[in-house]
Amino acid sequence: MDLSNDDISTKGKGEAQQLKKEIEKLKRDLKQKEKLLQEKNDELQNYLYTVTHELKTPIVSIRGYSMLLENFHKNSLNEEIVEYLDRISVNIDRVENLIEELLDFAKINLKSDDFETINIKKIIDNALIDLRYLSDENGIQIHLQNDFPTVQCNEKLMLRVFTNLLSNAIKYSRKNGEKHIDIGYKNDEIFHKFYIKDNGIGIPRMKQDQLFKLFSRVHSDSKIAGSGLGLAITKRIINQHGGEIWVESAKGKGTVFYFTLPRNEYVL
Ligand code: ADP
Repeated sequence: MDLSNDDISTKGKGEAQQLKKEIEKLKRDLKQKEKLLQEKNDELQNYLYTVTHELKTPIVSIRGYSMLLENFHKNSLNEEIVEYLDRISVNIDRVENLIEELLDFAKINLKSDDFETINIKKIIDNALIDLRYLSDENGIQIHLQNDFPTVQCNEKLMLRVFTNLLSNAIKYSRKNGEKHIDIGYKNDEIFHKFYIKDNGIGIPRMKQDQLFKLFSRVHSDSKIAGSGLGLAITKRIINQHGGEIWVESAKGKGTVFYFTLPRNEYVL
């Protein structure tokens, strides 16, 4: 069949219109799914917030009664009971910390006006000031590998990301030998890619999948303080910025945490 130029252009227009309609429909579907996901997310967050908040009252009450016992009946309590009360107090501290961190986790819900244009170097400098005592005490050398970009982010939460990853790199450093941490940046077409690399104790491959889940602790050394919430919070913050986080590590050899943030022109 022979088609004239007019036929071809009418057919082309029809197809283009059809394609446009399909794209519009896909966009509507995507928006609807996003809305549904946001609603589910909010629901889960409210639930977590309520449960955690409810836990606060009985904990405060337990602390109150054990303090009453210790303060007003100290002379009639034997050493063993005083020791038990101390243990109760230490465990209440732990539960209270966990509750605060869970509440923090539940509260991370960024809206578009929570973002500002910030140079990442400023955030890293602030994180390093906060951690100077810990890194000096552990004899760790920290190197900044290159220049850092300006990104759209929430300054307070991004400070938290760097503080969490850096304090882990310090906490899980090797016992002997030279200890160092590198903080670096790679430019990509769509994403800014950051990394924090240590030469510490590393993480066995089998355990790496669980790292970003709530309460996940890989090393059971009770001398290293932690709740297993830091990486879950870090991941939540990065995801809410439109980025991803992942780990590469080998036991005894060190760990690299990578994370991405969208370049400014791709921020939604
Ligand atoms: P925690 O409060 O226990 O440090 P995180 O969620 O921050 O909790 O980390 C989870 C677990 O991942 C830690 O308990 C530790 O076992 C492991 N981990 C995190 N960062 C590192 C690191 N840089 N090197 C080795 N292990 C790490």
